[in-house]
Amino acid sequence: MDATEPTPIHGLTWKQLQAEAKARLTKGHGRARELYRQVTEEARFEPEALKLADRWAEGWREHFALPLPEVVRTISEEGETGTTAKAVLKLHDGWEVECVLIPMGRGRTTLCVSSQVGCKMGCTFCETAKMGLIRHLRADEIVAQILVAKHVLGWPVRNVVFMGMGEALDNADALFQAIRVLNDPAGMAMGQERMTICTVGRVDGIERLAREGLKRINLSVSLNAPNDAARDRLMPVNRKYPLAELQAALAAYRPRRNFTLGVNVCLMPGLNDSREDAAAIAAFCDPIARVLVNVIPYNPGSDPLTRAPSDDEIDQFIGWLRDEGLPVRKRITKGRSVMAACGQLGNPEARDELREKKRLRTLS
Ligand code: SF4
Repeated sequence: MDATEPTPIHGLTWKQLQAEAKARLTKGHGRARELYRQVTEEARFEPEALKLADRWAEGWREHFALPLPEVVRTISEEGETGTTAKAVLKLHDGWEVECVLIPMGRGRTTLCVSSQVGCKMGCTFCETAKMGLIRHLRADEIVAQILVAKHVLGWPVRNVVFMGMGEALDNADALFQAIRVLNDPAGMAMGQERMTICTVGRVDGIERLAREGLKRINLSVSLNAPNDAARDRLMPVNRKYPLAELQAALAAYRPRRNFTLGVNVCLMPGLNDSREDAAAIAAFCDPIARVLVNVIPYNPGSDPLTRAPSDDEIDQFIGWLRDEGLPVRKRITKGRSVMAACGQLGNPEARDELREKKRLRTLS
């Protein structure tokens, strides 16, 4: 971001805003608390509404802003547990990201938010991977998805999972800052226990998270394949951080006594759904103190690796995992018809757009 541009308030914690306002404004910084509430509780930034003298309100506008992405479109799908809705949001530089509201049953909802435009992790079952990494989101751009969902779209957001476009721990600085902003008692005051980071297995990111002191945050790992040969093929991150290394990092990650690691398995017929695969998942989980395995049916995208599993196949696999002594939750697939389900976010054409933009830049 250009240093001369106003600072997005929703990328700052209350204390950070207080310090910045004091440093930059000669008068009017005493109203920082009220403005922070406006921004974080109502997604509005109106210094004039505080009856400040015009020049002090202008000072606020010169140095601070609330740039929210534009809602390009929303698409929704009705399901057993409620409505799944996807929003496509356009950022200030024209790139688009997506966030998805997922009904979790009993009136609870989770907003799945993006941390990057595209992703460089290259998981072979994922639409976003086809875009490659275009850019990281800033902390305010991550927080903005929640503000837009709640206050522009009126969605009832309860929990947040960092599992949309991008690998959250590949953009750790912005992710951790966004979590601190969301968690700030002077602002949105969203409890850490209502937020989940999902990773494909960035061991360096897990170790960094352990040092970060976010003790109540939830963590889940997308395991998907329980042996290195299969995981290397499905998730190239495994070549850098093979299963033994990932397992050791997860076994060592114990931010609190009752911490339960989510282990996500996207069930892909013929690729990871055998009896042996179930036993290997159990062996992987064995040294980790507490786990909950989430079995997620594969959602075929534009270039499917395999078909979606049938209900019988899912139930059989879950039965094998339970026979191995693992606690398991079946995740009903939601939003498949609107490309809002796991692994279906993203616009693969964006990569071509980026190439074209670069080509035009070199010509001009
Ligand atoms: S599954 Fe997640 S980490 Fe893997 S390519 Fe897709 S967005 Fe990236």
